[in-house]
Amino acid sequence: MNIKDGLKPTTSPRVIDLVAAAGVDVSPWAVSKKGPVKVPASNPAYCYEWAYTEPGKLVLLNLWWRDIQETESKVFTDTNLKDWAAQLRDSLQLTPEQRRAGVRRALKMDAAIAYAHENRLPVRVIVGEGEPRDLTDPDSPESSRMDLRVLDPEPWTVERYDPVSGAARIARGSFPKYVDQFDAESAAELLRRTVTGEVPVRNAKVRADALRRSEGCCEFCGKRGFQTIGGATYLETHHVLPLGEGGLDVVRNVAALCADDHRKAHHGEERDAMRIRLQAMLEKHYRR
Ligand SMILES: [Zn+2]
Ligand SMILES: [Zn+2]
Repeated sequence: MNIKDGLKPTTSPRVIDLVAAAGVDVSPWAVSKKGPVKVPASNPAYCYEWAYTEPGKLVLLNLWWRDIQETESKVFTDTNLKDWAAQLRDSLQLTPEQRRAGVRRALKMDAAIAYAHENRLPVRVIVGEGEPRDLTDPDSPESSRMDLRVLDPEPWTVERYDPVSGAARIARGSFPKYVDQFDAESAAELLRRTVTGEVPVRNAKVRADALRRSEGCCEFCGKRGFQTIGGATYLETHHVLPLGEGGLDVVRNVAALCADDHRKAHHGEERDAMRIRLQAMLEKHYRR
């Protein structure tokens, strides 16, 4: 059996139980503007949402089982909630209230995906099946029904997110163990800086290879990088011979450094000595 088949939901547990099991605080479900709620599990302010956020910890998303794709090496889903919001907004089949509620939920899920991506947070996934609403079919049910659902025990990650278009790829597993300053920076910030040319665009594989080689320890002082809120180890990637001096954007020219040593490598009085030591370290590593 492949992984996607193993994820197919066959039961209908209550949403509130899955949300709580994922690690999201469900105590707000017990209250509304009017006071305590009789049945928190059916609090309409929560139980129909598509996404839940536990700040600083995780994001929980509802994904359709049928939208999950599986290749030899990965399980993922490509989605675009900004697009979905636009379709809902333009739909003639829906009442104005349904349109408003749908657009709000779609944009909230988009924001949750952006938040998980910016902060490198793990994504928990409720895999759902049922009747999705087809906005082009007049006989389609008037709201999407995700009757069958299961909480995937494995965390997912937002692998790609484009803050302009809203296009996202959410992949099962593949949570990064090591991150650098470019991973940790918000996607929007990175986009801005790339557009203005302040930071040269670098090869993501080169950075990932250097981080992996370091095994999470600064390649200058040996100290372990700090843990990020997403649970990865943080180090900064640095071109030992700067690109501006003819250095290449290849793993043999990139060191993983603690934040302190990275600043020193640029601004410290010892920067020339550091360059020599780092070049020797890399040479030794790649000499056969
Ligand atoms: Zn260091
Ligand atoms: Zn640097």
